[in-house]
Amino acid sequence: MKRKLVFATNNKHKLEEITAIVGDKIEILSLNDIACHDDIPETADTFEGNALQKARYVKEKYEYDCFADDTGLLVEALHGEPGVYSARYAGEPANSERNIDKLLFNLGDNTNRKASFVTCIALILGGKEHLFYGEIAGRIIEERRGTSGFGYDSVFVPEGYEETFAQMGEEEKNKISHRAKAVKKLSEFLNTL
Ligand code: IMP
Repeated sequence: MKRKLVFATNNKHKLEEITAIVGDKIEILSLNDIACHDDIPETADTFEGNALQKARYVKEKYEYDCFADDTGLLVEALHGEPGVYSARYAGEPANSERNIDKLLFNLGDNTNRKASFVTCIALILGGKEHLFYGEIAGRIIEERRGTSGFGYDSVFVPEGYEETFAQMGEEEKNKISHRAKAVKKLSEFLNTL
């Protein structure tokens, strides 16, 4: 029988991505699959803190081995903002367009546009906790470019590229992204089991 592992998300895209990588060895279950409809707390002030908080919640309450992720954008000139608050940078209701407006406003004409996306995945398996990281460096441009993707994609140009994540298209982005790097490390680990 396949080992069962919960991914603490209901994001279809994330579930498909990980299932495609490890699905033949491990059965990945979503929160819906285990009938978890809770609003899982995410109140830490670090990516690893939030990822661990979500994974521990599922492990403690539902007794499944589990992994959870947390991602954000760190902008150097803004001392690491929006960071763990990336999804709700401009407050409620959470909205990417308002978040980008706030980011561009706060950066103003600052010439230091350096930024990076960071993903942390926390895995709880067999009573042990493991962390996997992925990061991509780049810069924030002055105006939006491109229409694909989500979040801050239209203003983020990865290092060594001229296009934003939103101009690249999903396939190319997924080869180099922070999330892809963290997922790769997780899947390499799972493949050693
Ligand atoms: P999450 O932890 O994956 O939900 O990501 C938190 C927030 O970070 C999202 O709501 C987006 O605003 C931002 N974000 C995460 N990954 C990306 C990305 O690949 N491109 C643009 N924005 C992202």
